[in-house]
Amino acid sequence: MIKLIHLTKVYRGLRAVDDVNLEIKPGTIFGFLGPNGAGKTTTIRLMAGVLKPTEGRIIINGMDISEEPAEVKRCTGFVPDRPFLYEKLTASEFLYFLAGLYGLADRVSFEDRMSRLLELFDLFHWKDELIESYSHGMKQRLVMCGALLHEPKVLIVDEPIVGLDPRGARLVKDIFRDRAKAGTTIFMSTHSLEVAQEVCEEIAIIQAGKIIATGSAEELRKIAGVDGNLESIFLKLTEGKRIAHAAPLSSH
Ligand code: ATP
Repeated sequence: MIKLIHLTKVYRGLRAVDDVNLEIKPGTIFGFLGPNGAGKTTTIRLMAGVLKPTEGRIIINGMDISEEPAEVKRCTGFVPDRPFLYEKLTASEFLYFLAGLYGLADRVSFEDRMSRLLELFDLFHWKDELIESYSHGMKQRLVMCGALLHEPKVLIVDEPIVGLDPRGARLVKDIFRDRAKAGTTIFMSTHSLEVAQEVCEEIAIIQAGKIIATGSAEELRKIAGVDGNLESIFLKLTEGKRIAHAAPLSSH
């Protein structure tokens, strides 16, 4: 469902994303982990079409993002790390605005879908309040509502759990699992190893722009040669130069 092929982004000589190759099957919740500055957000912005790669290709749902950007966007939902919301709108108005962009607003089923999503994200009772009055967590949940409005096949999320309280975090994790069961592919970056261990079937670890390991938490445990939780595996894999220069495990 998602293929990154030799994906590279260079910022003034800095290889922020360096020859990344990944292939992600439909219905997978894929966790993208790495230390600060590793290249997670850059990769995600490339996948969302916000940035253009220096080299390489991104294939989503069988389409090359550089050749069919609008079609790819139609089947992709994107939640950035710092989302922009029109705070003088209410949640309903904001979702209507997005629906207009996706050409959904006139559809009879749209109202139902919007109400279901607002209920799901625990926002229905506040749908007519201005977004500026929302808490951080409510705004974050609204952005996710918006990203799912057009029922995308692929959801790309940068740090979905940051800033959510335990209840909000649980809600989002449950929704991700339900969506994945229904066939949506979810690509999420996270710093929370706990979240990755709990919800991600597959994980890639990126460091200094390169993928240093991919696999399930169990497979990563074997690669790192440590027992224990994902935190110890992550620390082991990202420590020092020895592992940092290991060849990518998943090559296209
Ligand atoms: P974090 O976990 O801290 O959010 P990250 O893994 O998301 O980090 P990126 O934000 O992708 O990392 O950054 C990767 C590298 O690219 C970093 O060294 C960063 O300083 C650099 N970088 C990111 N954006 C730009 C830019 N617009 N211009 C120049 N360098 C950039």
